[in-house]
Amino acid sequence: MINLPVLKNVPNASDKRMAVSVTAPAQRLIRSGHPWLFENSITKMSHEGNSGDLAVIFDKNRKFLAVGIYDPFSPIRVRILQKGKGATINRDWFVAKLQEMMKLREPLQGTKTDGYRVVSGENDGLPGLVVDRYAETLVVKIYSASWIVHLNDFVSALLEVLPLKRVVLRMNRITQERPKLLHGLKNADVLYGPELDGIVVFQENGVFFESDPIHGQKTGFFLDQRENRARVERISYGKDVLNVFSYTGGFSLYAARGRAKSVTSLDISKPAIEGSVRNFELNSSDDIIAKCPHSYIADDAFKAMKRLASEGKMYDVVIIDPPSFAKKQEEIEGALNAYSKLVKLGLGILRRGGTLVMASCSSRVKADDFFKMIYTTADNCRRKLIEIERSEHAIDHPIGFPEGAYLKCLFAKAK
Ligand code: SAH
Repeated sequence: MINLPVLKNVPNASDKRMAVSVTAPAQRLIRSGHPWLFENSITKMSHEGNSGDLAVIFDKNRKFLAVGIYDPFSPIRVRILQKGKGATINRDWFVAKLQEMMKLREPLQGTKTDGYRVVSGENDGLPGLVVDRYAETLVVKIYSASWIVHLNDFVSALLEVLPLKRVVLRMNRITQERPKLLHGLKNADVLYGPELDGIVVFQENGVFFESDPIHGQKTGFFLDQRENRARVERISYGKDVLNVFSYTGGFSLYAARGRAKSVTSLDISKPAIEGSVRNFELNSSDDIIAKCPHSYIADDAFKAMKRLASEGKMYDVVIIDPPSFAKKQEEIEGALNAYSKLVKLGLGILRRGGTLVMASCSSRVKADDFFKMIYTTADNCRRKLIEIERSEHAIDHPIGFPEGAYLKCLFAKAK
């Protein structure tokens, strides 16, 4: 058993379970494997539970439906851990679950990749919890304080299945705002292993990257684009490549290793751009990467692409990987409009015969609508697209339920 001194003041989940009855539509959703039970779908509760209590959900005939974690502060009142048959949710249960996840990720072995997603929240059956691995560091990110009382068991199980050197805890903003539920834990606490002073270096398909698990966006890096980056490497030979919304240059490094003629990273965030420069330095012993000229622009993508067009700059590959534009239902139309603007701007600086790589990470924007929007926009710009490929999720980002499908990307040549 691993000793986790940081967690010694954190109580374990109570043994007292709540019984919860739900509406008929919620029953159907839960049976189909949906991981969330919303507050307004609950018809009866045995008693008011505490954050993190286990809730046993019954159908109207008092038959067991599922067990999950109760969260009195979220509209998602129960995050479901197991449906169909009862379970004791403890360290052993987490070990078995994590072993399943590692099995799914086996194909990553031997690919010189030690940065990947170990647990993808609801899609891996642990709603509200993500674990990313960066070499010897595991970053556990919780999206609900209800996970706190399960951390002793979970982190101990995680270290059994993946015996690495360090575990860091990250919390989303809402969780940080509930100090009473955190039992002294803070965002960016090191739960296990040596203190972390700054960045960690890991490999993705043999390319070195830094990740800053404390200050970086998400858990420090966007691991979900690994396969799309490899696709970019394959199409970059001899090309001028523009990487828009580059963050720390993930796509840029792969383009350089694919022997691009030049690579430009564009991002509004200065720290992200500085990260891209350091990532090139990290790979300076790779002659091919070292030889590729890398330039960068720290500016708003919309403004900068307009300016590049007015200066007559043209590229052979334009990659556009914006942040999520639609967090809510009402934002979908606005998001599609913003994507369309980006496609238009991208095509404006893409040479004839060049390749557009257009991605979206908004789960609310459906893949069909997104791809259709790209074609319509290209039509309006009088550019004919010849599709190379459309890609979705990588194996370490499985799709466990409909809302879990968020990433889509089109690779197309534009005549
Ligand atoms: N392609 C990246 C991930 C992109 S995440 C990778 O492979 O790692 C989205 C990025 O968009 C973030 O780095 C964020 O700083 C940047 N961003 C957000 N709004 C922007 C804007 N208006 N213009 C340029 N960059 C922006």
